[in-house]
Amino acid sequence: MLRIAIDGPSGAGKSSIAKAIAARLSIVYVDTGALYRTVGYFVRSRGFSRTDVEGIISCLPHIKIEVRYENGAQHVYLNGEDLGDRIREPEISMYASAVSAVPEVRAFLLDTQRDIASKNSVVMDGRDIGTVILPNADVKIFMTASNEARALRRTKELIAKGMEANYEDVLREMIERDQNDRNRDIAPAVAAPDAILFDNSDLSVEESIEAVLSIIREKGGKTV
Ligand code: C5P
Repeated sequence: MLRIAIDGPSGAGKSSIAKAIAARLSIVYVDTGALYRTVGYFVRSRGFSRTDVEGIISCLPHIKIEVRYENGAQHVYLNGEDLGDRIREPEISMYASAVSAVPEVRAFLLDTQRDIASKNSVVMDGRDIGTVILPNADVKIFMTASNEARALRRTKELIAKGMEANYEDVLREMIERDQNDRNRDIAPAVAAPDAILFDNSDLSVEESIEAVLSIIREKGGKTV
């Protein structure tokens, strides 16, 4: 079994790179942000504000989350329904960040994440994979890029999905979300002491994939 943890702020390219690595190594890609987004989606659909911690906690008993892999792609089901790209809307990003700072939400999603990693070789991306979810991961990478590079990528990604996005709004919301994620009391989005820092501001996705593969080969030893 091989367990690769990729953490870092939004727009650092974690998901595209992790997906490609999973395909190259024939292992499972786990997008843990999708789980927080799904909880955020439910909380918003119930009409709670993102600062209403009691409201957020009151939603949890009504949420059943399942992760399924269909043709190699991860699908997250909320009470039996696949939400698809609805969880990618910018407003849901802000809800995801808010709910993720609530300890009860993190505890609620813990087993789902560990369970997948106990049954499969994985490359898992998120904010606390190397620090909390898989502290014994074989390889830990903390991936980042400049604010401008990340906001530009995120804007292009949203437009490609047919959503409305403008660079200035994306940059502002991204910085706010990163600050929430980095400064929260529980599982802050910081590098594990044994993580390799990887800044890909000036690299293409292809170059980043190659660089990460060589880190994995070096660290993962014989397993890769
Ligand atoms: O990675 P993504 O941008 O989809 O994550 C959405 C939000 O979910 C993040 O801003 C963060 O607040 C939260 N998250 C988290 N821990 C993870 C993955 C995501 O707190 N492992």
